Amino acid sequence: MADNIRMDITVDESLVDRLTGLLFQHVRFGWEEQSLATGETLFRIHCDNPELLARLRAEVDMLGSGATRAESAVPDQDWTAAWRDFFTPVHCGRFLVLPPWLADQAKAGQLPVIIEPKSAFGTGHHNTTALCLEALSDLAQQGKVRPGMRFFDVGTGSGILGIACALLELSGLGVDIDPVAVANAKENAVINGVEARLRVDAGSAAEGAPETYDLVLANILAGPLRELAPDILARLKPGGALVLSGLLDVQADAVEEAYAVLGPARRVHSGDWVALVWG
Ligand code: SAH
Repeated sequence: MADNIRMDITVDESLVDRLTGLLFQHVRFGWEEQSLATGETLFRIHCDNPELLARLRAEVDMLGSGATRAESAVPDQDWTAAWRDFFTPVHCGRFLVLPPWLADQAKAGQLPVIIEPKSAFGTGHHNTTALCLEALSDLAQQGKVRPGMRFFDVGTGSGILGIACALLELSGLGVDIDPVAVANAKENAVINGVEARLRVDAGSAAEGAPETYDLVLANILAGPLRELAPDILARLKPGGALVLSGLLDVQADAVEEAYAVLGPARRVHSGDWVALVWG
């Protein structure tokens, strides 16, 4: 049987960006991040997939001397508890993101988003997702995003952002290039009872053309957000709202530049991460 491993990776500041990129690629189900007093950052991952662990070890070792890693085995009887401890509820704006076993914890006025933590990214624990949910909540509060409007969620992962839109009574489309994410997002749409308002398809920003949307959300990474700019812009209705996330502070100018036709964006920050909001 595969071991349940907790891997701690500590990197100095210059490597945070690269390691985050690696984790986005390989550890989509999430990780914990903690700034240390030394100025370094600790990333903690729980994983029971030996191939994934092997790949991760090799990639981390290639980062050089600024990165160190340590592993410990978590006994079977503690594994479910460690996994469950990690997936605590996350409060973002009007939304409370919860795993299924805590589904009844939302309080009056909170919109519960139930996410089964599987392999697709998007449990609400990462700043980039939380920034999108908060931006969405604000747009709804300002009346810029309203029931009946249409949304497009590019890189839907677990489906979290599309589900949040559907809970606000919008309807639309979530797409992902990863078939595992497409399956997870469909499953989560059903768990949340919003499958009639959230359609999930394999694909990217050009999927479902020529429909244009009142709201487009994309939490990918800076590189893809720049490359996809023409496609994403083509899907946005004139005067529609756009939320882009997955970029570090230092990457925000370059991404905003690719969307300059929309004028200046509002920036919202969480740690080193920033989301760009138009609308
Ligand atoms: N929307 C979720 C997941 C973000 S992770 C959230 O906010 O938490 C980014 C997702 O984008 C991953 O599932 C990845 O497979 C997908 N992705 C990466 N590049 C893409 C592209 N070019 N087009 C569509 N999806 C992409």
